[in-house]
Amino acid sequence: MKKKTALVCGAGGFIGGHLVKRLKAEGFWVRGVDLKEHEFAKLPADEFRLLDLREPRNCRRALALGKGTFDEVCQLAADMGGMGFIHAAECEIMHNNVLINVNMTRAAAEAGVKRYFYSSSVCVYRDMKPGEPEMTEAEAIPANPDNEYGWEKLYSERVAMAHGRKYGMKVRIARFQNCYGAEGTWTGGREKAPAAMCRKIAEARDGGTIEVWGDGTAIRSYTHVDDMTEGIYRLARSDLEGAVNIGCPQYVSVKELVDTVCKVAGKTVKVKHVDGPVGVQSRNFSNARIESIGWKAKVFLEEGIRRTYPWIEAQARAASLPRSSGPRR
Ligand code: NAD
Repeated sequence: MKKKTALVCGAGGFIGGHLVKRLKAEGFWVRGVDLKEHEFAKLPADEFRLLDLREPRNCRRALALGKGTFDEVCQLAADMGGMGFIHAAECEIMHNNVLINVNMTRAAAEAGVKRYFYSSSVCVYRDMKPGEPEMTEAEAIPANPDNEYGWEKLYSERVAMAHGRKYGMKVRIARFQNCYGAEGTWTGGREKAPAAMCRKIAEARDGGTIEVWGDGTAIRSYTHVDDMTEGIYRLARSDLEGAVNIGCPQYVSVKELVDTVCKVAGKTVKVKHVDGPVGVQSRNFSNARIESIGWKAKVFLEEGIRRTYPWIEAQARAASLPRSSGPRR
């Protein structure tokens, strides 16, 4: 039997890299594309192409597959990072991501791709107050995202859906909550809160002090990458149309995140609260749609940090040694 084929855009990144591994484990023939090689993992992709997907011709090159076409395209390429980056680079984010998405969606539709997965974000939603009831996917409209990254995601969801309608391409859209795990950005300014906390605590001495943006009360859900890839895999081949939230139902404050990392690290640290781009105050989203196809989060925060902290600690230790002391993979 002929192998199913998948193109993973953004395969050199965190979630895309994990998705390549998952699709290979499921027996797919996989091509990854990205601007860069994966920094931390040796991917099992059958092919990997370095391409800038802002360019329409590069989107067509990514999709070229002899006489045939890909069974599915998973679009995870984005100029992206944590809150610090999202607020500092809003023009670059809007410009680069809208180009990637309009060009890739059009190229996939014109190539006759049957299934197209797009990675959106819960950043499309307005801010919430602690204790507010769960928000469903439909409540993204009327729209009031907290940042420009969220506006671009909302627009690109619609670009994908419009092409799906016109070209008969099955479009599946996930709105990811904050995702974390090993082999993701952990330093350099684009890292997200769980990775940043793991790094700060790994670098701190026991009893030392770390800096944390804001007053520590912001509420978030953190989804381990194993749960996220399971959700993507199920959603991509489901019949669920329209956007679908994927996130762990455990909501914690930033203070609880810090306490969890300390517990896993076996350290005590003092927290110095400093000004910084915290983002929204609170989150609480319905998972009813993704759960309707059998998905349920399995990795809650402490277990997820147990799977993540040792990897970040090892990266931080290697980075503090002279350059020749060992690879990062
Ligand atoms: P990531 O930054 O690790 O991966 C994105 C990849 O896209 C990077 O490897 C980057 O090099 C690549 N890329 C950027 N511009 C490109 C271009 N012009 N051409 C080709 N490749 C390009 O991010 P991630 O955490 O793996 O996120 C994957 C997707 O999920 C993104 O669309 C992101 O917006 C979305 N998302 C992630 C989270 C999260 O918490 N990680 C939350 C919500 C949504």
